[in-house]
Amino acid sequence: MDSDIIIIGAGPAGLSFARILADTGLKITMLERQTEKTLAKPDYDGREIALTHLSQRLMDETGMWSRIKDADISLIKDAKVLNGDLNDPLFFDHTKSGKENLGFMISNHHIRRAAYEVCKPYKNINLMTEKEVWAVETDDVGGTVTLKGGKKLRSRLIVAADSRFSATRRMMGISTDMRDFGRTCIVCKVKLDKDHDETAYECFFYDRTVAILPLKGRYCSVVITIDSKDAHLVLDQSPKEFAQELSKRMEGRFGKMTLDTQLYPYPLVGTFADCFYANRYALIGDAAVGMHPVTAHGFNFGLRGAHTLATEIKKFHDLGLDIGSREILQHYNTSHRQATWPLYMGTNALVGLYTKTTPLAKLARKALLSIGQHLPPAKRMIMNQLTEAAS
Ligand SMILES: Cc1cc2nc3c(=O)[nH]c(=O)nc-3n(C[C@H](O)[C@H](O)[C@H](O)COP(=O)(O)OP(=O)(O)OC[C@H]3O[C@@H](n4cnc5c(N)ncnc54)[C@H](O)[C@@H]3O)c2cc1C
Repeated sequence: MDSDIIIIGAGPAGLSFARILADTGLKITMLERQTEKTLAKPDYDGREIALTHLSQRLMDETGMWSRIKDADISLIKDAKVLNGDLNDPLFFDHTKSGKENLGFMISNHHIRRAAYEVCKPYKNINLMTEKEVWAVETDDVGGTVTLKGGKKLRSRLIVAADSRFSATRRMMGISTDMRDFGRTCIVCKVKLDKDHDETAYECFFYDRTVAILPLKGRYCSVVITIDSKDAHLVLDQSPKEFAQELSKRMEGRFGKMTLDTQLYPYPLVGTFADCFYANRYALIGDAAVGMHPVTAHGFNFGLRGAHTLATEIKKFHDLGLDIGSREILQHYNTSHRQATWPLYMGTNALVGLYTKTTPLAKLARKALLSIGQHLPPAKRMIMNQLTEAAS
C-alpha cells in the first residue's frame, strides 16, 4: 500500500479530516487538482461562513481557530427571521440559548487557509497538488485511485471530499438526492452607516430572500437568493443601485449601505448521498451532504462528519484493527445521517415554502413564524438545530 488513507479533495472538509487524524501517525495522501499556492493563499470568494459552537470547538481542537485573527472573527449574538415585511420578526435571543452568542462568522478564505496551515507541518500528510483523480475502484483489502496521466495509488481506505458534484461518488455507484433549486445565491460584503448590533437578519421577501449577517465593525455579509432567471436584475445593477435598493428593502435601518466587494453568484444545488460509504470508500463534506446555504450548515456538517469518521478510525487504529472496515463506515453512516437528515429536509421544505408566492403558501409562512414565535419548545428546537448547541 502507498498509504493508509487517500483523501480526494483538499477543500476545508478534506483538510480538516486530515488534520484530525494527523496525530495518529497514519500515512495520509491528499489529492487535489488545485495548485498549492491556491490552497496556501485562497482568494476571497464572498462567502462568510456562519459557524456553530460545535464547529468552534472542533476548529479549536485542530488548531485552526487560533490561526484566525480576532479581527477576522465576528459574532452572531441574536437572529431575526422576517416574512415579507420587516415587522413582527421571529426573534432568536442568545440569552435563551445559554450561550453568549448564537454563532460566529468567518470568511471562507480564512477557514481554507487555516485548514491548509494546520496540515502542512505533518510529515505523515502527503499533500499532492495539481493532481486530478480520474478513476477509483476498491477490493477486499484496499482501494486504487488513478490519476490523470495514468499513475495509480493504493490505500486501505479512500475518503472523498471532492465537492457536492463528487465524480468519484458516481464512480463508486452511490446514488444521490440532488435538488437544483433553480435559484442563485449572490453574496457580497456591505458597509453600513448604523450598527447591526451583532444581529443576523433573514428576510423572506416575496421575490427573493435577503440575509444580513453581522461582520466586525459596521460591515455585514449580504446573501441574496433569487430565481436564476432573475439573477441578472441584481448582478447587472451598478454598486450604487444595488446599495440603494438594499437599503430601501431594509427600510433604512442600517442607514446608508455601501457595496464593499464585487458580487459573487453561486448556483444553488442541494445534495444528499443515499449512502455515505461503499466498500473501503467514504464520503465527507459536501460530497456527503451539500446544503442550501439559507440555514448556513454546509461546512458545519462537513466538520462534524469529518470528526465522526475520524473518531471511529482512531478507535480501530488504537486497537490495531483494520481502519477500512465496513463496521467503521456503517457507524459513521448511521451517525452522520441522523445528525444531518432532519436539517437537510427541513431546509429544503423551508426553501420551497418561502419561495412560493401563492396565497396558501403566504398563509402557511405566517402560521409557521407565529408557531415559532409563540411556542417556546418549537423555538428552542429550531435554535438547537441551527446552533448545534446541544451537541
Ligand atoms: C454562498 C454560500 C454560502 C455558504 N455559507 C455557509 C455558512 O454560512 N455556513 C456553513 O457551514 N457553510 C456554508 N456554505 C457551505 C460551505 O462553503 C461548503 O459546505 C464547504 O465549502 C464545502 O467544503 P468541501 O471541502 O466539502 O468541498 P469543496 O470546498 O467543494 O472542496 C472540494 C475540493 O475537491 C477538489 N476536487 C474535486 N474533484 C477532484 C478530483 N477529481 N481530483 C482532485 N481534486 C478534486 C476541488 O478542487 C476542491 O478543492 C456556503 C456555501 C455557499 C455557496
